[in-house]
Amino acid sequence: MNRLRNLNVIRRTKRNLHIITTIPEMRDLKRNLIQSNKSIGFVPTMGALHHGHITLMEQAKKENDIAIASIYVNPTQFSAGEDFDKYPRTIEKDVSLLKGKIDYLFAPLESEIYPYDKNQICHVEPTPFNKIFEGIIRPEFFRGIATIVCKLLNIVQPDYAYFGQKDISQCILIRQLVKDLNIHSNIRVLETIRESDGLAMSSRNVYLTESERIKASIVYKALSAGKTLINSKNKTDLISTADLVNTITRILKNETSVTSIDYVSVASHIDMSELSQVRADTGAVLSTAIRLGSVRLIDNLLVGRAYTDILRPIS
Ligand code: AMP
Repeated sequence: MNRLRNLNVIRRTKRNLHIITTIPEMRDLKRNLIQSNKSIGFVPTMGALHHGHITLMEQAKKENDIAIASIYVNPTQFSAGEDFDKYPRTIEKDVSLLKGKIDYLFAPLESEIYPYDKNQICHVEPTPFNKIFEGIIRPEFFRGIATIVCKLLNIVQPDYAYFGQKDISQCILIRQLVKDLNIHSNIRVLETIRESDGLAMSSRNVYLTESERIKASIVYKALSAGKTLINSKNKTDLISTADLVNTITRILKNETSVTSIDYVSVASHIDMSELSQVRADTGAVLSTAIRLGSVRLIDNLLVGRAYTDILRPIS
């Protein structure tokens, strides 16, 4: 209720950003935009916005007549014991940031998206993704992501939807989702935006203490060493995954603040399946998830054709 009151206050003060909170309002908007032949670029987020999110929105605005973002902290992608309750929620600050950047913000209440308290009958179940490293560690994650993105794309029906490489397995899943379920939206993946020391921007970086923040760039350094190893080879050379994993793991282990390594993965950019070796020109998705104190950090780098195939611009 408080959140609704806040949004109503914001609605009155930020005149050039229209805030929509219900699905019927969103559908009316979509109908009007179709009638006036306007293309829609859409950026789904969970809020606590940073420059990575804003870059997606700027691109959506550049490539479409109308840019719409959503802010919704999706409960179904969090497993028990994860940070759903403490996930940063900064709606007023987010709205200030969005002013002038996009045209519409869709900020539904949980009851609008999950009226039966998450117990709806149909979900999108991307079974193979439950078997990749991130899916094994976060058992509800990919089902929650696939279901919410499917819902949002059905509600907003954008021409283009924008996602960040930062969450690479999510991007690869969503590209497959729109193909498999015949969703009429094009998926654009944009490069990860980083802090000056290489740390990938993330809403969860606020959990880091000052000293953890300084150490956190180790993730980027470790993955970069893997990338350098691949790039040092000739195009047709094969590099063993074991060598890549060892190179990355050694650097992570040298940093005493790294309390645990969930995984180091060398995977195909087609479906995130683990590779046993990498051909230098084909490349791969190098990714890792670690804990620094109690904070979990994920990151990835795309090498070779994996990079160009995923980040291919609109032709
Ligand atoms: P989130 O709010 O964390 O769910 O993220 C919303 C969208 O922003 C997702 O497509 C993310 O991949 C993307 N995103 C998050 N962090 C970054 C970043 N550092 N650079 C580019 N995109 C990002």
